[in-house]
Amino acid sequence: MENKKATIGALLLSFGCYYFFKNSSITNTDDKIVIAVNSTTIISITIIIIPLLLSVFRKYHLNDNNNNKTNKEEIIQEEEKYVKRAKRMVDRWTGIQQQVNRKNPTNEIILNRNSILQDSNNNSSFYNETSKLIPIFAECEVLVVGGGPSGISAALAAKRAGADTILLEKFGCFGGVITTVGMETIGWYRYEGTVESQGGIGIEMERIAMQMGGTVKWPYNDSQCLDADYFKIVADHLVTEAGVRPILHCLAVEVMLENNKIVGVITESKSGRLGIRAKRVVDCTGDADIAHLAGCSYRKTPKDEMLGVTTVFSCSNVNKERFLKYTEENPATYADWSRFWAQETSGKENHLRTPYLDKEFDKAKELGIISKRSNIGGSWSSLTDAGEATNLNLVYMTNYDCTNVNDLTKAEMEGRKETLDAIMALKHVVPGFEKAKLRNFGMTLGGRDSRKIIGHYNLTGDDVKNQAKFNDSIGIFPEFIDGYSILILPTTGRYFEVPYGCLLPLEIDNLLVAGRCVAGDKTSHAAMRNMAACTVTGQGAGAAAAISLKQDVTTSEVDIELVQKELIRQGVRLH
Ligand SMILES: Cc1cc2nc3c(=O)[nH]c(=O)nc-3n(C[C@H](O)[C@H](O)[C@H](O)COP(=O)(O)OP(=O)(O)OC[C@H]3O[C@@H](n4cnc5c(N)ncnc54)[C@H](O)[C@@H]3O)c2cc1C
Repeated sequence: MENKKATIGALLLSFGCYYFFKNSSITNTDDKIVIAVNSTTIISITIIIIPLLLSVFRKYHLNDNNNNKTNKEEIIQEEEKYVKRAKRMVDRWTGIQQQVNRKNPTNEIILNRNSILQDSNNNSSFYNETSKLIPIFAECEVLVVGGGPSGISAALAAKRAGADTILLEKFGCFGGVITTVGMETIGWYRYEGTVESQGGIGIEMERIAMQMGGTVKWPYNDSQCLDADYFKIVADHLVTEAGVRPILHCLAVEVMLENNKIVGVITESKSGRLGIRAKRVVDCTGDADIAHLAGCSYRKTPKDEMLGVTTVFSCSNVNKERFLKYTEENPATYADWSRFWAQETSGKENHLRTPYLDKEFDKAKELGIISKRSNIGGSWSSLTDAGEATNLNLVYMTNYDCTNVNDLTKAEMEGRKETLDAIMALKHVVPGFEKAKLRNFGMTLGGRDSRKIIGHYNLTGDDVKNQAKFNDSIGIFPEFIDGYSILILPTTGRYFEVPYGCLLPLEIDNLLVAGRCVAGDKTSHAAMRNMAACTVTGQGAGAAAAISLKQDVTTSEVDIELVQKELIRQGVRLH
């Protein structure tokens, strides 16, 4: 290209010279040469030659600058690559496991708060809310927003690491999906062969609940079902005993930011709109509400591929003996999951027993008791001696986004309607349920899938399936995947390490994200969304928040070795 331009320039220049000499007369007097130039020649020179020369000069001058710039950048990039390569080599030789940023193809949508606003720009009108002074009603070192499995763990870990900690929750109890949705089964994956951290807060929650009399053994392994109502008391006990400051009935609705750092949140409650100042904030809202409000980027699976939402309900008046006899005579296994849910298992799970009802609803369809198009089917878990089936996870509804208020409204109402169909079917086709009655619904619909932050490290399905190891590990979790048509139970002793990087949003400092909304792709989400995994990220986040304060550095600068030391002190297994 450059050669072509130079050739055109040279041709025009030659033509100019020829034209110049052709239209000029040169005379030689004594010691002077006189060149007579006519007006046409002067105009030609002005119009053609001078701009041409100027543009050629400018072009080469700019090119030279650009070349220098590109070369410098390239050299720096090459040097950086070389240093990284050399470090990787040395680490490999010395046996240190490196973090590998694997990029997985994904159809997930990357969004942030602004993209949502732009979107609503096309659809709605706006109201300009006047700014007003918000009273600060509490200050603390670590504020944990959301009191589910991750939030309880984050608050306990931060407090145990020495930070003055507040745990904020929008409902009237802690426990998240356990207490508000009614899901009891924190350890159902724990078949023979599972390797997991025995000292983490997840196991502690299960153990303390059992000691307090708030559990029932899960039917097919040694894990405990947490009594959803009783767990409210267990959570109160854990929080108060640790000295965490609780705030219930309080929704975080906005963030306070200073220079790309979070410095608190604004809440709404019956007390009005109030601020809480905090040196560190841990987002355990399940939906990454705080990261979203702070403008962090996150990914979302397209709605028609998202994991479904469920209305969990319970029944009373169940004849326990008769029902258990029926399940013994008609044992369900994980092979049955494949029939209805199109589960991709590795086959090794197929023979294991599972508390699962599915063929029964096919029968109800054949009998015309429920619609042929019905999606009802799923798991039961514990049965009390008083004849209560406390955790019926049978109403699974798809194509709902649990961060969209219209979808939430529709799904809540559809869920209740489907529950009545499910009970009707149970009464007609499942022995033991003949006289069953609706006992209660969870306090809210249960959502499985929404925002997942874009983190410093985005965990992948490969990491989960290939026993990934990380220098910044904050804990381990067994190879247990449940979602997006994959079911892998951790019967092999395989486990992966959870990196601190997937709790760190890219854009805002002093904000950590834990629980089901940590950074990762769909398959890793199907592992990390499980309650016990949420307790691993919660505990890691709480400890890191407290240590960053002690060190007086931000959460992205914290010395990971000190965080790991604290986690080990708290009983966590890192590798
Ligand atoms: C129907 C269903 C069945 C499931 N079954 C199982 C199972 O059998 N085993 C298993 O391990 N996992 C199961 N899961 C998944 C698991 O329960 C969740 O992924 C897990 O509880 C997530 O924990 P978390 O702490 O991230 O969030 P959550 O448990 O959702 O807790 C978040 C908490 O934050 C609060 N909150 C949210 N936003 C705000 C806000 N802005 N301000 C204040 N508070 C806020 C919420 O009220 C909630 O208490 C199931 C999930 C569902 C929905």
